[in-house]
Amino acid sequence: MSLDLLLKETFGFESFRPGQREIVEAVSDGKDVLAILPTGAGKSLCFQLPALAREGLTVVISPLIALMRDQVRSLQAAGVAAAALTSANTEGETDDVFAALREKRLKLLYIAPERLAMGGTERLLRGADVRLLAIDEAHCVSQWGHDFRPDYLRIGELRRALGVQTTAFTATADAETRDEIVAKVFGENAPQTFIQGFDRPNLFLEFRPKNRPRAQLLEFAKARKGRSGIIYAASRNKTEVLAQALRDEGIIAAHYHAGMEPDTRRATEERFQIEDGLVVVATIAFGMGVDKPDIRYVLHADLPKSVEAYYQEIGRAGRDGLPAETLTLYGPDDIRLRRSQIDEGLAPPDRKAADHARLNALLALAEAPNCRRTTLLGYFGEEYEGNCGGCDLCRDKPELFDGTEAARKALSTIYRCEERYGSGHLIDVLLGVETEKVRSAGHTSVSTFGIGREYDRNQWQTIFRQLMALDLIRHDPSRMNALRLLPTARPILRGEETLMLRRDAVVRKEVRRAVSAEVAEEDQPLLSALKAKRRALAEAQKVPAYVVFPDRTLIEMVRLKPQSPDEMMQVSGIGAKKLERYGAAFLQVLTGETPEPVHPARAKFHGKEAGALFDQITELAREMAYGETGTEKLLTLSPAIVARISEARPSSLSTLAQVRGMDDARVERFGEAICNLVSNDAE
Ligand code: ADP
Ligand code: MG
Repeated sequence: MSLDLLLKETFGFESFRPGQREIVEAVSDGKDVLAILPTGAGKSLCFQLPALAREGLTVVISPLIALMRDQVRSLQAAGVAAAALTSANTEGETDDVFAALREKRLKLLYIAPERLAMGGTERLLRGADVRLLAIDEAHCVSQWGHDFRPDYLRIGELRRALGVQTTAFTATADAETRDEIVAKVFGENAPQTFIQGFDRPNLFLEFRPKNRPRAQLLEFAKARKGRSGIIYAASRNKTEVLAQALRDEGIIAAHYHAGMEPDTRRATEERFQIEDGLVVVATIAFGMGVDKPDIRYVLHADLPKSVEAYYQEIGRAGRDGLPAETLTLYGPDDIRLRRSQIDEGLAPPDRKAADHARLNALLALAEAPNCRRTTLLGYFGEEYEGNCGGCDLCRDKPELFDGTEAARKALSTIYRCEERYGSGHLIDVLLGVETEKVRSAGHTSVSTFGIGREYDRNQWQTIFRQLMALDLIRHDPSRMNALRLLPTARPILRGEETLMLRRDAVVRKEVRRAVSAEVAEEDQPLLSALKAKRRALAEAQKVPAYVVFPDRTLIEMVRLKPQSPDEMMQVSGIGAKKLERYGAAFLQVLTGETPEPVHPARAKFHGKEAGALFDQITELAREMAYGETGTEKLLTLSPAIVARISEARPSSLSTLAQVRGMDDARVERFGEAICNLVSNDAE
């Protein structure tokens, strides 16, 4: 079968996504390939499809059981012979896999890297007609990355032992990791490398300064009730508290962190995977195993640690390519927390300096004056022309003002108060408020007392936050987190540099409507009905909803409103196998009627041109069952015969006579009419 046909028939996709075709073709040409594509780009297809297009077995190495299980499940649902060998298999399951391997029944075998360390694996694979090795999440070979899996280092050995074509996939694209993958997996023979940009155009990017953080978070989640999301929080306790707060608001939510029992953790992961619209409030321990394609938002309740971490975490949203939202809440406390984590860590000084610089880059993104996408991609070395239209700053331009004067007032107040106070006290001094603390410190007589009345307290807080984000001032943990000046503040204090600041965000409109009504208002009930059907089918089979059909497919069903199995095949995401399995159930929802049963011989032609011919011949055979006159002996054409004719498309009586089941009597009765139909059909 051709690659395009496989794409449609087995995976049910109309077309390749950007980057996929080139990779699939290179792999099908027998080339070794390293492909670096962003999360959600559709890397799995790049090895699954070539695996189906060739003889023999493709072995996939994947780091997490959850990832393997999902892929195997999806493949099986599409009618592909796939299996996994992992430590989670029961003995019976493993025996079945071994038997399937012996009998050469499998197209794809997923194995956990731990297997490579076990004796016998190499021997097992040697006898299994392996033609392709695919390494998913290939950055796991990197010892410096956060996902290092020591067993990944054995892949090179396996590759040499089997001597087969090898492909590697990852979303982590920095040059260092890339070189490591090449060195450790491919050795001397450099693979053909494909790199696709970092942009995830379907993700909406937004940062908001915290003012009432709990309310901001609840408001956001409530406006998106029923959608599945991840909320990242900085502490274990906070995940529990916030999950409860969400439940109190009627949102289905669970918490997740590394302090939970392994079983409970797994159960939560499983629930998130399977349940429609669950929100998980988690620490960053909730991570790599999350491969759910229809996560509609990622909200950071606290500032992440770096741009890399931020990008990884938001990247979990919207893998299906549909619009998804991200929101990061941050404030001075976050900045203080992150800085103290760095300072209190055990890293050597130069490493700490580098970590502060990383944090500064993230803060620059948080406080960016325009298009966040440009800033974000710029961090990864990608140029972007700006005005993405998909971030809060493009939607709502922030107002900038010359903040030099304000900054000098704030900085010199810090200086005059001897770098011993936090922003609350400093703002009191700037505003000329005579609190007990101000009086007893003698700060009513410093020269900056009361010189900042042109701004209110909120505005001063905004200014202090921006000075922190610009790393001009820092909290000093050794002085009870008093603010101190950094050398970078000096040129501003001396009037040698100017400073543009953002008029805040705090006063800007807080509530933005959730993006993307999925379908038109009047179609909403239909979509809900389809989702309910999907849930019922998924629950019955104990698989995640998207294994039945992803959101995208349901939305397209609503748009096209197919009324027959043939029309159903036009919907993206529906291949022959899925149609056979679920078509009738969904058609019933769409048409409101129980569809007539379709003969299996006809079902083969769903969505194909031959289907129309099949129907015409069937009709004709019915009309002529008793001959032209209607009085002759009864002759019928079975669906199997009609199927054979529709496939063979005979244009002459002699070729028609060669179709199995077409005896002389039938050729005589139907022959001429059928040949006419075929030749008309060809015109
Ligand atoms: P990655 O591994 O690159 O993060 P996946 O392979 O998990 O991405 O694919 C993400 C989602 O995109 C899956 O739901 C998959 O079914 C879907 N997908 C992949 N290729 C296509 C395509 N050509 N058309 C439509 N959807 C696709
Ligand atoms: Mg993947």
